[in-house]
Amino acid sequence: MSELRFDGKVAVVTGAGNGLGRSHALLLAERGAKVVVNDLGGALDGTGASSGPAAEVVETIKKNGGEAVASTDNVATPEGAQAIIQTALDAFGRVDILVNNAGILRDRSFGKMTVEEFDAVLAVHVRGSFLVTRAAFPHMKEQAYGRIINTSSPAGLFGNFGQTNYSTAKMGLVGFTKTLAIEGARANIKVNAIAPVAWTRMTQSILPAEFEQKFSVDRISPLVAYLAHESCETTGEVFSVGGGRVARVFVAEGPGWRTDEISPEAIRDNWEAIMAEQPYLTTELGKQAQASMEKML
Ligand code: NAD
Repeated sequence: MSELRFDGKVAVVTGAGNGLGRSHALLLAERGAKVVVNDLGGALDGTGASSGPAAEVVETIKKNGGEAVASTDNVATPEGAQAIIQTALDAFGRVDILVNNAGILRDRSFGKMTVEEFDAVLAVHVRGSFLVTRAAFPHMKEQAYGRIINTSSPAGLFGNFGQTNYSTAKMGLVGFTKTLAIEGARANIKVNAIAPVAWTRMTQSILPAEFEQKFSVDRISPLVAYLAHESCETTGEVFSVGGGRVARVFVAEGPGWRTDEISPEAIRDNWEAIMAEQPYLTTELGKQAQASMEKML
């Protein structure tokens, strides 16, 4: 089995000072990528800042014989996002891989959620992914090569109590991934998303203690590495990953129910058919949507 290597490639990993991002950065660097380790170094709720976490990861990569530089810029501001990509260009001359991973939590049941808590979470996850991608995209287009991995979450795909802000952000990244995959296709820019479950400071208070080993961060990064590799042709997909299991997650539409005389009562009376899942239409609808978009480009 030939090893997937990243020699000559430059990767930017946001939020790489801790948890999942740290693990992604270490794996990509171990396999030859030059890595920008970005991390603001704040608390789980996004408050505060420190250069410590990014510096530690850079030091570890260098100790292991790899190449890396630190960035403590904030993904959620246009200047911060530009500075992250500029760090890659200044240090290594290009950017081939972008892993949008930085994230924060402001959990609160919906009745108590403040506007500030909603906005802060969307700012880092959605706006941050948009801004850093926006800074990297022209360079990827220019070189007709790019690999972008966004970080969604099961909370976004399936819902989770106390996380309307976070779930909104994480499902938003699915839409972002799907459309960016269509727009990046001509320039060989592949865009996918992961929905991980892993033991980090973000989840250790909610996951059972026995998950620490089984759901370790190094069981997520191999998928990120594959999606970041030039041999990966897949784009626009979302993958559930954790505990050694990887699965495609897809949005599907049921076969539906059709009438020429639609009314509230007719809908009520045919609810079972409307709710039916099989045979789902995802692949065909997806292909049609993609074909019609490509015609517009
Ligand atoms: P983590 O808190 O260990 O890592 C997130 C990192 O992002 C932190 O180091 C933090 O300093 C950094 N960060 C936060 N805001 C930033 C900003 N504005 N600019 C730059 N860096 C910033 O948590 P984690 O579990 O490793 O989470 C990584 C990503 O994975 C997040 O997007 C998270 O939502 C997602 N995720 C994690 C899990 C899980 O099970 N751990 C599940 C689903 C999704």
